[in-house]
Amino acid sequence: MTKHTLSQLPSVDRLLALPALVAAIANHGRQPITDCTRAELAAARELVRAGHPPPDPEALAASIVERAGKLARPNLRPVFNLSGTVLHTNLGRALLAKEAVEAMTVAATSPCALEYDIADGGRGDRDSLVEPLLAEIMAASMGEKAKEFAATIVNNNAAAVLLALDTLVKGKEAVVSRGELVEIGGAFRVPDIMRRAGAKLVEIGTTNRTHAKDYAEAITAKTALLMKVHTSNYAVVGFTKVVDEAEIAAIAHEHGLPFMVDLGSGTLTDFARWNLPKEPTPQDSLAAGADLVTFSGDKLLGGPQAGFIVGRKDLIARIKKNPLKRALRVGKITLAALEATLRLYRDPDRLAQRLPTLHLLTRSEHDIAAQAERLCPVVADFAGETSTVSIEPAMSQIGSGALPVERLASAALVIRYPGKRPGKQLAVLEERLRGLPQPVIGRIADDALRLDLRCLDVVDEERFVTQLRETS
Ligand SMILES: *Cc1c(COP(=O)(O)O)cnc(C)c1O
Repeated sequence: MTKHTLSQLPSVDRLLALPALVAAIANHGRQPITDCTRAELAAARELVRAGHPPPDPEALAASIVERAGKLARPNLRPVFNLSGTVLHTNLGRALLAKEAVEAMTVAATSPCALEYDIADGGRGDRDSLVEPLLAEIMAASMGEKAKEFAATIVNNNAAAVLLALDTLVKGKEAVVSRGELVEIGGAFRVPDIMRRAGAKLVEIGTTNRTHAKDYAEAITAKTALLMKVHTSNYAVVGFTKVVDEAEIAAIAHEHGLPFMVDLGSGTLTDFARWNLPKEPTPQDSLAAGADLVTFSGDKLLGGPQAGFIVGRKDLIARIKKNPLKRALRVGKITLAALEATLRLYRDPDRLAQRLPTLHLLTRSEHDIAAQAERLCPVVADFAGETSTVSIEPAMSQIGSGALPVERLASAALVIRYPGKRPGKQLAVLEERLRGLPQPVIGRIADDALRLDLRCLDVVDEERFVTQLRETS
């Protein structure tokens, strides 16, 4: 047996002179390739010490190039969302319109009038970039009344609720129904946010039933606000009673108190137009008498991550003066995307073509089923001979706190491994899909892997097919 020695390994300099690595240096830069060369040589030394033959220089160069390629890959990678949930919080929620992306690029690459009044050369207010647009959109359904309201934009809806409570309730009490003390994905619990804002939570009613008199009876000298939270990720059904917004608003106003609604998702248009389930709008809440409404920018609105606080001008003015506003405000890139997104709402006729999220929500079952027919053989090849792939009806979820019990009829490719214990094979398949250059995210349920195709836009189909074919 020949004894392998470390001296048989090439030097760093010799490796770096190989054509493959000269090309890699031109691509990635000298430092990263040198680092990867050292790391691969260290791994090779371990192998040699363990008695293995030293890899030849070309093989080493190939591993170095592969290592450099992996390191250069962004951490925030695009995936195919075939989970069946359109607004998937863990997969980044809304997709932005082309118009929003263009506006972000401009804001990112050019000085812009973020807080500068071009008309008089004085200091401007960043909220004024979107406030008039919002008023215009709201005026379409609520008329002149929309002008009575102001708006401010913060990092997300959780920040909107925090800032509003910190401004209006700190050290005092806010009254909320027990049926609305929601948790949204662990990190946002209404009672926790209230505590952080220094607001004392006064829970009223029971889990399933809250009456108008519960609100009225909870009001004391310490009460600062009545609050309603949209129960966005669950539904209480059966023997239930909730008090409608107009009634709570009337009780609040009788006692000289503001009424705030945390809408969560909130859409600015009537979804009935596209035969989508009715989702409450901020206009509805304001028309019903709410003094403040909060909602997210990256849920049904289809914009970037942001939180809106819309409502009475005097209250918004107080909120804007809170020093926390500075800590929670959004940057120019977000505002650019938000403004461009809101502009699309001026033309509702074309909204479903231009807002990607709305486009996905309005795809017809027929269209998705036809796509499933096209993709079935490709997915079957990828899943292997022992699998069966069928096209089955599916029910997509809107996600992110839009009507939790409503579903959208869709179609899915359903992969099974007939036999006794399919779990292992399904797990392997799921991992292979996740391991693709653009990972494919499906869902395992009932001994099958389901790929709901609602969110595979037809324009991305070819890319999807190519990557499966290349790795089948
Ligand atoms: C989604 C949601 C939130 C949190 O909004 P983010 O924009 O994710 O911070 C708060 N309240 C309700 C009712 C929600 O649906």
